[in-house]
Amino acid sequence: MIRASVVPAVVLGMSLGLAGCGGGGGDSIPNLASSSGGSVNSSAGSGGANANTGSSAQTGNADTGSKPGTAKPAGGGQGGAENTGSTENTGSTGSTGSTGNTGNTGNTGNTGNTGNTGNTGSTGNTDSAGGSGSAGGTGSTGNTGNTGGSSTPDTTCVDISRCLNLSSVNVARYKDNKRAAASYTFDDGYATSPAIATLFERAGLRATFYIVPGLVANTDWTIWQDLSRRGHEIANHSMTHPDFVATPMTDQMLDTEIVQSQRLIEQKVGVRPLTFAFPYHLSTPRAMALAQQSHMAVRMMDNGEPGYRFAFFDTDHGTDLAGTLSTVNRQLDEAVQGNGWFVAGGHGIDGDGWSPVTTDFLQKHLAYAGTYASSLWIDTFANVSRYRLCRDTVKPDVQALSANKASVKLGGAYNAATCTAPMTVTLPVTAMKEGCKLRARGADGSELPVVIQGGVAYFNAKPGETVSVELVAAGK
Ligand SMILES: [Zn+2]
Repeated sequence: MIRASVVPAVVLGMSLGLAGCGGGGGDSIPNLASSSGGSVNSSAGSGGANANTGSSAQTGNADTGSKPGTAKPAGGGQGGAENTGSTENTGSTGSTGSTGNTGNTGNTGNTGNTGNTGNTGSTGNTDSAGGSGSAGGTGSTGNTGNTGGSSTPDTTCVDISRCLNLSSVNVARYKDNKRAAASYTFDDGYATSPAIATLFERAGLRATFYIVPGLVANTDWTIWQDLSRRGHEIANHSMTHPDFVATPMTDQMLDTEIVQSQRLIEQKVGVRPLTFAFPYHLSTPRAMALAQQSHMAVRMMDNGEPGYRFAFFDTDHGTDLAGTLSTVNRQLDEAVQGNGWFVAGGHGIDGDGWSPVTTDFLQKHLAYAGTYASSLWIDTFANVSRYRLCRDTVKPDVQALSANKASVKLGGAYNAATCTAPMTVTLPVTAMKEGCKLRARGADGSELPVVIQGGVAYFNAKPGETVSVELVAAGK
């Protein structure tokens, strides 16, 4: 009967060991705690000699603690035979081993079993309790051997290649490994722009304001300076809001509307506008070429990608506000499902400006967007544009530094002037053992947060940076 109870424990232990990324270290976890446990055992060892036999078995088991097995000599009598059963326990790596201990209880060497508890290290301890039932102190001697097992604590998190697929390190599609993105833009610089900004800030978000520096209403620069400082994007919507298709334009006029407008905003706000939006979404090839040449990105109604959705935040393209809300929320669904980019285009709110929406409309939509928090990255048009421009050119280069450490350099043929913001690097997790964690450090030694979600670990780092990724014990 003793054996019968022991065997299952062994099997369980084996499977656990295989699952752990530490490989052979399956038993390691218990060992960690064991050092102290070991001492406990020894004290227990005071028990009867017979049990010792049992200990010999343990020796065999505990790869780690085997040496201590020397205790065997002490062992002897029948108790020993039963102990053999314990041997199997040892075989079970680690924590499982503890389970096996229960079996030990049955052993003559029982007393010794108690000692086993200590061996298992922490995990095992629980079982050990059962072991205490054992009468025989001898067994304990063997336990001492177990103590030896505790000596392997540092083998717990040694092999990073068993935890991560280092050959499949990539840059995520969107920041923080989100599957889709959303940007909210408001045109023409209406008086309610600061109120819109506040609404977004309350949701922890930032918006983009396309202003027209040639319009008197847009020249209260303190408003735009303030919004820029608060993290919103102040971008270029042309100098005077012309219809670029209907208005015949000389090169100089184009330059004024696109390039000089950009410079004026930069001069007044203190931050260079990185993106451009054509008034009425109307452009000519010449105008588009100049806008793209002078800006990082140009806002489009259609960028050619299946998952891209431009959503009109007004009542000119729908029926009423309720109809518009339902339309834009459906467009957001489609963008998320298509791993795409949702770009909203609005103006003012609450009666201000052209075809305005309302505070209530924005709040309801943002609450809806919030339901996609785990899959949707919401940021300014410039920030999402930058990420998209860099994600295909920034290439992570992985080098193994040691068994538990690798470096990830964000290299590649990226545009250094554009790719200045952190990118998200993903590392597929094959098996993360309990008790281990990944630690990432930047070149300056600063720790970078590592998130593990959905079988993928990720961290954010800037192009050009080299990050060291290390597998360490969770407590460290
Ligand atoms: Zn406009």
